[in-house]
Amino acid sequence: MATHFKIEGLRAAIEDKEILKGIDLEIKGGEIHAIMGPNGTGKSTLASALMGHPKYEVTAGTALLDGENLLEMEVDERARAGLFLAMQYPSEIPGVTNSDFLRSAINARREEGNEISLIKFIRQMESKMKELEMNTEFAHRYLNEGFSGGEKKRNEILQMMMLEPKIAILDEIDSGLDIDALKIVAAGVNSMRSEDRGFLIITHYQRLLNYITPDYVHVMMQGRIVKSGGPELAQRLEDEGYDWVKEELGIVDETVGQA
Ligand code: ADP
Ligand code: MG
Repeated sequence: MATHFKIEGLRAAIEDKEILKGIDLEIKGGEIHAIMGPNGTGKSTLASALMGHPKYEVTAGTALLDGENLLEMEVDERARAGLFLAMQYPSEIPGVTNSDFLRSAINARREEGNEISLIKFIRQMESKMKELEMNTEFAHRYLNEGFSGGEKKRNEILQMMMLEPKIAILDEIDSGLDIDALKIVAAGVNSMRSEDRGFLIITHYQRLLNYITPDYVHVMMQGRIVKSGGPELAQRLEDEGYDWVKEELGIVDETVGQA
């Protein structure tokens, strides 16, 4: 069955402040959706609420992945159901090597007794690292510890490639990347496009979308998706900024926080 992800009426709050004010979004296998929007509009909150970050309280809505409501699951169950999040600010975990982390994450999604063999795991990891032009030394480093911004982002994509999720959410995967790294990361994402995988790509800049062509572009403002279109929408935002969208919708600029 082709992947089907449907978010309806999602509301979420942080410390009693409502950030997401009713998000509806449908992603089918094979599709790439991009969410763009000014800083502080709730893009990362959407990603975190879907993944189940404990700081974000979901107050309404559903997020059905192939018919199952992710919002009723624990974080690890969401991952097992096929949801993946590449974080805007990946955490450093000293004491856990990158390869141990990856192998545990892969095995957590498999039945007991059906763990990936060490040889197969290493072969796969090294081949993906090669694709991402990562030095294999990174396999043995502690997770993200001392990684540069760009190295962390590549490492997030490595995780995605190894875990083969049904729905991959990439939160500002382009921030901090120089143009060469951006192309490598984009090639990694494009290589993962398939009929049974959908993508939600959160980005502040249109630049990434020159390398990963989205099927749909959504604009998020003040906790809502206020406009949707095709790739041409991203280009217009790049050229003209967000003011025209605000004017069109009669949005009054309240406090726009820094992300
Ligand atoms: P974006 O990713 O679109 O830049 P965020 O989702 O990070 O926006 O933030 C949306 C709003 O929620 C902002 O006003 C931000 O200050 C607030 N916020 C996000 N995370 C937290 C947090 N952990 N504690 C308090 N406020 C937060
Ligand atoms: Mg953000």
